[in-house]
This record gives sequence, structure tokens and C-alpha cells, in this order.
Amino acid sequence: MRVVSKKLPEQPTRSVFAGRPSTEQRNNIGFEPVKVTVLVGGVGGARFLQGLQALLGSDGDITAVVNVGDDVWMHGLRICPDLDTCMYTLGGGIDTDRGWGRIAETWHARDELAAYGADPDWFGLGDRDIATHLIRSRMLRTGYPLSAVTEALCNRWKPGVRLIPVTDDRSETHVVVTDPADPSGDSKRAIHFQEWWVRYRAQLPTHSFANIGAEQASPAPGVLDAIADSDAVVLAPSNPVVSIGAILAVPGIRSALRTTAARVVGLSPVIDGRPLRGMADECLSVIGVETSAEAIGRHYGARSDTGILDGWMIHSTDEATIPGVEVVSAPLLMTDTDATAEMAAAALRSVGLNL
Ligand code: GDP
Ligand code: CA
Repeated sequence: MRVVSKKLPEQPTRSVFAGRPSTEQRNNIGFEPVKVTVLVGGVGGARFLQGLQALLGSDGDITAVVNVGDDVWMHGLRICPDLDTCMYTLGGGIDTDRGWGRIAETWHARDELAAYGADPDWFGLGDRDIATHLIRSRMLRTGYPLSAVTEALCNRWKPGVRLIPVTDDRSETHVVVTDPADPSGDSKRAIHFQEWWVRYRAQLPTHSFANIGAEQASPAPGVLDAIADSDAVVLAPSNPVVSIGAILAVPGIRSALRTTAARVVGLSPVIDGRPLRGMADECLSVIGVETSAEAIGRHYGARSDTGILDGWMIHSTDEATIPGVEVVSAPLLMTDTDATAEMAAAALRSVGLNL
């Protein structure tokens, strides 16, 4: 059992390739690109991927295994929030202020739907965004699997990272809550994660999460190979419950993480006892995990035990001891792409990549 805590020296982004061969040299003498597979949710995952991509450039071969637990049918359209956040962020189409949806968005369709009194009225679909959902829904109805649809959409956005939904099968996060429609407060009801998150802002008495369909789901083509055949596997600083947890709910993912020859490192989405954005604390409390970097690292657990981590990155000001896991502290604030690239470099160095 190894418990190590060490501080990494601060390094400017430009120097991360010091001592490595140039792209030209690598090409000439047959160097393979660095293969990194990252498990991601939406905003936290997409920003991390942006930094990793800036770090590795053409020396990198990055595969993102993306959460589909948030996916939902609305108005006859299949919405995949995390896939779209990754695709728009990496493809330059994201609204950077909101962190999701399209830049320069307009909302005429939403307003028209409201004028019809159409349900649900709590989920805003932007006009530009709707085009993505129209194409996706049409392709799904024609019989294409989500992974093929995603590839087709990415032909336009060219995210520079292979985006693969964790599964082509339905595996949706639902939330068991005290039924808000029952004034007695005695009955429970399961609602879709989006309704819990967007409509109720996670502010309902909440009992548990259920990954509907997960048990029958299998990993999408390329997912297990990407995990098995990587130089490093990274858990992005994404929501540990409804992003990473929902990915892990797909049978085969956890065992792939446990058996890959690559080392697995995770980054904490929680700094100083608080999530950076979103409501990860509300999710963690439902599964009985404290909102701290240490508790989340322990929740994932050590590969040398029954868990999935070799390394766990926490913010410089945090502390954590996790049996069997190498804990590394470094700045984990994704304030801009350079800072995020440095964070990605620290993660890859921590699993032995020579950056
Ligand atoms: P979502 O699907 O859009 O909620 O996105 P993710 O699950 O990928 O990421 C959400 C998580 O990202 C939240 O729990 C945040 O705490 C985390 N996060 C956002 N910004 C930062 C940051 O700058 N640093 C770190 N370490 N975590 C962040
Ligand atoms: Ca999400």
C-alpha cells in the first residue's frame, strides 16, 4: 500500500515538451503519438479536454468517453447535453459564458413552443442547437447508433478529439425524489435527471439515483479498446456521480479501468470542499459521499484494492490521504486554456508520461 503526497513544481505550459523529440523528429523515427483516454461529462470534462489538446497538439491521440446519462427525448428530439458540450467546446461553437449551448444563440423556437403551452416548458432549446438535435434524431430513427451519429456531427465541428458516447444503448440517470405533486409528502417518484437538475435545481428531497437501462447496456465500439490501449487513462474533473458515476454504471467500463496496462489518474472537481460549478455537492450527498477531494478519491478507490485509481490529483491547497493511491497536488483551476494545459501536464506526468 503506497500513500504519497507530493507537490509538483509549477511549470509554464511552453516547457512541457522540454527534452522530448519534436513532432518532426517523432515522425522521422517512428514515435507514436501519446494515447490518452479521458472519461468526461459536460462542462468540466470539455474544458479539461481543451487543455489536454492544447498541451499535446499533434503529438496527442485523445479519445473522450462521454457520459450519456443526461440524454433525454424532448419534443421528439434526442438531446445529448454532455456530447454536445464537448463537441461545441472543442469545435469553437460553445457559448463560453453559459458554458453550454451555441454561441450567438436565439430562442424563437422555445418561445413558440411556450406559446403553444407545450410540455416540458422548463428546458430551453436554442434555435441553432435544435439543428444538431434534428440531425441526431433523424439519424437515430434511421437506425444509426449514437456513436456513428456523433462521428457524423463531429465531421462538421472537428473537435480534434475522438468523442465516443460510453454506450449506444439507453443508459439514463433518473432520480428518486419525494413526489413534488403529492402534498402529503409520503410518495416517491423517479424523474429524469434533467427534470431534477434543470426544473428543480436539485432542490427536492432526494433518495437515490438509478441508471435506467445501464444493466443491459454495453460499451460503444472503440470504448474498451481505447481504455485498454492507452498510455494513460484520465478521469476528468467531472461530476463524480452523474457524469463519471453514470459512465462507470455501464457494464465493462469498471473492469476495463481495472485491467488496462495504462495508469489511471483522476482530477478532483471539488476544491476546498466545494464544486467549481454545478451542484456536485447535491449529488454526492445523495450517495453519502462528503464533498471533499479526499472523500471523492476514496469513493473511486485504489486499483490495488477494488477501485479504479492509481493516482488522484487535488488542488494545491487541499489535502488527502487515500490508501493505495498516489495523491498529487497541483493547481486545479481551469481559469484559461494555459492553466488547464498545465493541469493536464501534471496529470500525465503523475502517471509516468515523460512530458
Ligand atoms: P456537466 O456535465 O456540465 O455538469 O459537467 P462535468 O460533469 O464534466 O463537470 C462538472 C464538474 O466540473 C463540477 O463538479 C465542477 O466542480 C467541475 N469543475 C468546473 N470547473 C472546474 C475547475 O476549474 N477545476 C476543477 N477542478 N473542477 C471544475
Ligand atoms: Ca452533464
